[in-house]
Amino acid sequence: MRTDGIGRGVVLALAVTAGLAGLPIARATTRAAGREMMRVEARAQHAAPLPAFATRLSEGGGVPSRGTLPSSIRASRASLREADGASLPSYVRAGRTPILAGSAQKQFQNTVFDDKLGRGYRFQRGGWTYVHLEGGPHDIGVQHGYLLATEIADGFEALRLEMTHATGRDWEFFRRAAREMLWPKIDPEYQQELQGITDGLNDHGVKLDLWDVVAMNANSELPDYYVPWLDAREKAENRPEPVVHVGQTVQLDNIGVPGGSGIGGGIEENFDHCSAFVATGSWTKDHQIVMAHNNWTTYIEGSRWNIIFDIVPRKGYRILMDGFPGVIASNDDFGVNSAGMMITETTISNFHGWDPAGKPEFVRARKAMQYADSIDSYVQIMRDGNNGGYANDWLLGDRKTGEIARFELGLKHWKVWRTKDGYFSGANFPSDPELIRDETTFDPNRPSSSPNARRVRWDELMSANKGKIDPAMAEGFLADHYDTFTKKEGPDMRTLCGHGDAVPPSDPDARGKAFDPFGAVEGKVVDSGMAQTMSFIARIGHPCGANFNAAKFLEAHQEYAWESPVLRDMDAGPWTAFHSGEHAGQ
Ligand SMILES: [Zn+2]
Repeated sequence: MRTDGIGRGVVLALAVTAGLAGLPIARATTRAAGREMMRVEARAQHAAPLPAFATRLSEGGGVPSRGTLPSSIRASRASLREADGASLPSYVRAGRTPILAGSAQKQFQNTVFDDKLGRGYRFQRGGWTYVHLEGGPHDIGVQHGYLLATEIADGFEALRLEMTHATGRDWEFFRRAAREMLWPKIDPEYQQELQGITDGLNDHGVKLDLWDVVAMNANSELPDYYVPWLDAREKAENRPEPVVHVGQTVQLDNIGVPGGSGIGGGIEENFDHCSAFVATGSWTKDHQIVMAHNNWTTYIEGSRWNIIFDIVPRKGYRILMDGFPGVIASNDDFGVNSAGMMITETTISNFHGWDPAGKPEFVRARKAMQYADSIDSYVQIMRDGNNGGYANDWLLGDRKTGEIARFELGLKHWKVWRTKDGYFSGANFPSDPELIRDETTFDPNRPSSSPNARRVRWDELMSANKGKIDPAMAEGFLADHYDTFTKKEGPDMRTLCGHGDAVPPSDPDARGKAFDPFGAVEGKVVDSGMAQTMSFIARIGHPCGANFNAAKFLEAHQEYAWESPVLRDMDAGPWTAFHSGEHAGQ
């Protein structure tokens, strides 16, 4: 899953490391000042108020009743039923909706059709917004951009603040990276979809352009992988001989891996966190696959990470996945496809590496979710054009065979473990010793670190419940608050359900990030039976059910005041089932 990650640690790491090494910290502070200015400018440019119609569409459940629809929409809805397909734009013909009568019509009561939307629709349930997207790549994009226009505009503001704050780079930097580095490597299918999102947003009055949308889609890989890599290169080019102060600490460029960034390594561990497992065979109650995942992000993102995407692409397999508004990959990542693949991951902690010539991770991840029909084909698609961005331990299941896998994908190294009788857990710990040595600064032997502590907990829970694991039990695992380091019950960053805001400065693993509003922000569970019917269950908010109150938090923790423009409450919802192709009320 995505994280505030290295990026957010970088400025601190720069300051800490420079300070320890007796170096000036002017660079970091200069950047920070520039960033504040850029943020204000960019906000003025992008945060244009939505037209009244756009606002109406997204308030109060998102979809107006027919009587409140503007006449243009009512007219085009009628035209979809009555007009000759040949007279409609091609993307409408492709997604043309049949005339429905009687009870079938009722199913569509909560949907909106117009010539922008084709077969797209949305509804809300259990704190989530379910979005159905169907058709060719541009159709899917237009539907996505239009149906979620308000959510995307809001999510964009949140991500832009985080990405610029974490890196000290202005938004134009990310737009340029999207345009010059990422765009040429994106498959035409996804270029069309990203253009479609932009068109849908613009049709809805949201003034973001293609490069805003592409940069937003790369919100994991650009700040946390590309920027550290770039920082290290720029430092190497701009500075004379590095100096090592013996007995203090090593300098930035001397840390880390050959060809990697080295930034922050060994100094500031980045917070890449999610908790997940996949089990099969004699470990589960019905000997089929059970998979679960909770997504760890900032609460800024978590309160917005509430989309269920139901995608029926013209090519490839049908997808049901969770996600963030405006992003074409699940990104945290959790989903099933109609070829029987069950997919999730947790991020590799302290990973360093980036290949500017590679294909963006968000494109490979979406492509694999859409086209993989086996563990092997999943691996192949993810490896094709690997840029090192958002390096993960993928947990995979193939319900057709009952086989599960852990696929660890670095930039230099990759490895697959697979079994039809066993389990794999994910807690951001890498497993391949060569990858750990060459591509990370991860310490597998420090029991106070979150990945190691949660790994121990997964093993305890799996062993204690062997042969009984089912979806209901998985819900409980995702909400688990036992800390294997302190041997105490209570949420923190070492518990499977992470609560960064509960971590005091005295925690040995706090490392300057006490009370961080970061942690498990939602959970999902699926088994082979659900995967067969293209469904899963999901809970918004902390999987344990705890609510987060932003105003109270900010009052108590002024150090996070910079988040106040976008930090908001994060309330937990009920465990809720979602199916591919369903409508409100079903
Ligand atoms: Zn919890």
